[in-house]
Amino acid sequence: MSTSADERAAAALTGARRVVVKIGSSLLVDSESGRLNREWLAALAEEFVRLRERGQQLLVVSSGAIALGRRYLGMQREQRRLEELQAAAAAGQVLLAHAYQDILGERGLRVAQVLLTLDDTENRRRYLNARSTLDQLLKLGVVPVVNENDTVATQEIRYGDNDRLAARVAEMTSADCLVLLSDVDGLYDADPACNPDAKLVPSVTEITAALEAVAGTSSTEFGTGGMATKLVAARICVGAGCATIIANGHTMQPLEKIEQGGPCTWFAPRGTPLAARKQWIAGSLVPRGVLVIDAGAEKALRSGRSLLPVGLTAVEGSFQRGDAVTVRNPDGREIARGLATYACDEVQKLCGRRSEDIETLLGYQGRNEVVHRDNLVLLD
Ligand code: GLU
Repeated sequence: MSTSADERAAAALTGARRVVVKIGSSLLVDSESGRLNREWLAALAEEFVRLRERGQQLLVVSSGAIALGRRYLGMQREQRRLEELQAAAAAGQVLLAHAYQDILGERGLRVAQVLLTLDDTENRRRYLNARSTLDQLLKLGVVPVVNENDTVATQEIRYGDNDRLAARVAEMTSADCLVLLSDVDGLYDADPACNPDAKLVPSVTEITAALEAVAGTSSTEFGTGGMATKLVAARICVGAGCATIIANGHTMQPLEKIEQGGPCTWFAPRGTPLAARKQWIAGSLVPRGVLVIDAGAEKALRSGRSLLPVGLTAVEGSFQRGDAVTVRNPDGREIARGLATYACDEVQKLCGRRSEDIETLLGYQGRNEVVHRDNLVLLD
């Protein structure tokens, strides 16, 4: 018997090691009063506890700052210039963060606020920083609550919609499931607003141009994302080996509904997050430098360990922290590729030295590895 799409969505959610849940403004903020839907968030927080008790790691990407801030600052409907929205976001983000801290805190979950811009996820150095901070928070058992850093983001570097931001967060953290909670059940084969025969698409194994055309550019009053941005998000995630689920959040405990086989759209991931990340490091990035290592370091890398400064014999090229570098063995053969923890001038200083000396050599307590094993791919 074949597994239905709903079962696959349920399995993707229950079986994921790391889950990103994206919450749209129209779910979190009441459209009439502009107030936070506390009961809804409280019910969702119970679900978060259940996920965590199952041993799953959780990240939340939450909108709602602008909607909350507008009410707080007494803004009128027509006040929608970029700087007005940014001012609203600045005020509303405080309310949003407090709400998460209060409501999740009452259920024993600790939260941390992480504000990102497009730049942080596209720029190599900042990407590495954001990734390791998020990793650290998860290791500490904290739930990161991520939003766009609306106040500093200009028109050009804005995400604009949190669907895409959530996808980048899922990709960056090698999550294996992204749930986009929305105000519709999922993706339809026609616009349900004008076509009564429109049917929900339960599973997508390939995002085709036809699907994109149907998704159109719809958007809700508060949030900026419509189906089109959800498809963009799904495309990013699927390529990063992360299953994506679009489901209706206008219900109490929407995650449980997915687990029970309720209506939603599930996008099949291509491969695993680990394979996708390795492919990205080894195949998509142009190496900016070369690290030559000794035989001891080669052995360490082959047994799955990180590259430490002590194993370096030479450094070439001009690279920044987070850039891709090639690793050569004593015979001059390229054996690995990875992301550099330090810029080339710093690696020069560390070359052949012990990790304990990093602070003396660089003047600050940096990381022990020149390339961390999570950011390293062996080529043969
Ligand atoms: N960052 C915006 C906010 O917190 C929301 C963007 C979106 O809804 O996609 O209000």
